[in-house]
Amino acid sequence: MTDYAAPLADMRFALKELAGLDEIAQLPGYEEATPDLVEAILEEANKLASQVIAPLNHSGDREKASCENGAVRTPKGFPEAYRQFVEGGWNALPFEPDYGGQGLPWTLGAALSEMWNSANMSFALCPLLTQGAVELLQAHGSEEQKEAYLPRLISGEWTGTMNLTEPQAGTDVGAVKTRAKKEGDHYLITGQKIYITYGEHDFTENIVHMVLARTPDAPAGTKGISLFIVPKFLPNERGEAGTRNDLRCVSIEHKLGIHGSPTCVMAYGDSGGAIGYLIGEENRGMEYMFTMMNNARLTVGLQGVAIAERAYQQALSYARERVQSAEVGQRGQPVTIIHHPDVRRMLATMKCQTEAARALAYVAAAELDRAHHEPDESKREQHQVDGIDLLTPVVKAWSTDLGVEIASIGVQVHGGMGFIEETGAAQHLRDARITPIYEGTNGVQALDLVGRKILRYKGETALRFCQRVEEEMRALDASNRVKTVASAVGAACESLKQATGWLVEAAERDMKLAAAASSPYLRLFGTVAGGWQMARAAQRAEELLAEGEGDAGFLESKIKSALFYADNVLPQSIGLMTAATRGAETTLIFDDADF
Ligand SMILES: Cc1cc2nc3c(=O)[nH]c(=O)nc-3n(C[C@H](O)[C@H](O)[C@H](O)COP(=O)(O)OP(=O)(O)OC[C@H]3O[C@@H](n4cnc5c(N)ncnc54)[C@H](O)[C@@H]3O)c2cc1C
Repeated sequence: MTDYAAPLADMRFALKELAGLDEIAQLPGYEEATPDLVEAILEEANKLASQVIAPLNHSGDREKASCENGAVRTPKGFPEAYRQFVEGGWNALPFEPDYGGQGLPWTLGAALSEMWNSANMSFALCPLLTQGAVELLQAHGSEEQKEAYLPRLISGEWTGTMNLTEPQAGTDVGAVKTRAKKEGDHYLITGQKIYITYGEHDFTENIVHMVLARTPDAPAGTKGISLFIVPKFLPNERGEAGTRNDLRCVSIEHKLGIHGSPTCVMAYGDSGGAIGYLIGEENRGMEYMFTMMNNARLTVGLQGVAIAERAYQQALSYARERVQSAEVGQRGQPVTIIHHPDVRRMLATMKCQTEAARALAYVAAAELDRAHHEPDESKREQHQVDGIDLLTPVVKAWSTDLGVEIASIGVQVHGGMGFIEETGAAQHLRDARITPIYEGTNGVQALDLVGRKILRYKGETALRFCQRVEEEMRALDASNRVKTVASAVGAACESLKQATGWLVEAAERDMKLAAAASSPYLRLFGTVAGGWQMARAAQRAEELLAEGEGDAGFLESKIKSALFYADNVLPQSIGLMTAATRGAETTLIFDDADF
């Protein structure tokens, strides 16, 4: 098990040179995000992540969260680390100041999320869910609800959860059966929820559950779902945790990974009904829940980046120590495995894709900041539709798929030791595996991208994206090295345009074709978008080198990453385009009997 240190140089580069954090700091409301403050925050967050949270990753995996008579204990050290996290004000960083937030940009928050999740994904899931609850209440809660819950959720004194899933209602959230019966100023909630992350724990006194349920006469499906605040302890007149509510953790799941994070089966209303408070209006719960899910999807995408980074650091460290075989073509002494070209290929594959995914996730977070803080309304709309809406499913699914693949390469770099738990390489792979599943499976992200973000606009959003990328590639005042990357991105963009054209036409023939194409199409989109960021990175690195600015070694390495991506990753676009077009037709030739 190796240590973790945040990749500060690459984070700074992605924040400043690619996501444009300095410009975001000029937007109204973000003036406090000065370069000095940003630097101090990154340094301090790295200390907490690397010195306090990361050392609990492996021990947490071995010890696991446990549940006895409904009381959940997280692994040794987790509650103390959470206390430090809250005392440092880290929970409050990206929230608006009205209820105690620090009002700093999400773009910066993205880098911090990456750090917490690289350090210890099991631990970081708790603030991730609280963040979703805060956004939900900020957007849809009444003034009274905001006052009762936001200050404590924002500070981290209480935590939040998201309760959608039931045994029969997973992807199909419309099948939720939990009941909500009106009684005076509140509702009585009865039902069971499964897989509730941090549904019960020992970090804080109170837990605020956001629960989807159905009122007695509600219409069927998603249009009949309402959303409720169901606190573990009802706030008393002083706003503190008061009477115990009628809800409990029945058990926790035994899982493939994220062992430190309790995944709870929750029972509501065993003794007559848990008190719940309606958010907004009845039957609009799914619409409200999407506020929470969208940002959580971006953060789950960052978990993919985070785990890829951690796996890379671990593989690199092992490759520098493990001695095996002489260098190819030589008969000398055995060397460390980092000298073998195939190991270098693996490390370069991990490094360049992690950098590409990081850059895209931070750029997406910057789109979110711009969509909220640009003074001009039409620009806000543009950053929403062409920016954050389009990129969210791509960041979620592409980055988490990469997280799993990169963690798997990390195991391979270790050889046999990768398969042995004591190195910790296997833990990264096990932990990563949930990320393509929760917050909407990656298959569902692909359907969201194709259906809601592309076909709804008859392909125009995707074509505008391609146009933007192509214009930027043409405008690069490119050295030979950057030209190579830019032309590979241009070629990949052609594949994306072709697949988009096919998608629009095929959807008119048969929506099943578009659905069958959606996953390879999303992968193609992510591959191109990653290449776009790598080309921009290479260009900026060349410029900084020419100006004699920055760390020359780091900048040279950025250019090499981009070149590797251009030659080893971008050519996959042709195969992905084939899969997203002809391949989709072939998918549909199978009958039930063929399987
Ligand atoms: C560790 C963990 C933590 C979790 N945390 C939470 C939490 O905090 N709160 C919460 O509410 N839930 C949580 N979940 C639940 C999680 O979000 C669901 O597991 C996920 O949404 C998938 O639902 P499902 O498991 O029922 O799979 P299913 O919906 O049964 O899906 C099975 C497969 O079928 C595919 N599929 C299903 N429907 C379609 C479709 N229409 N089109 C194409 N493919 C489809 C899926 O992509 C998947 O591959 C958690 C789950 C786990 C394992």
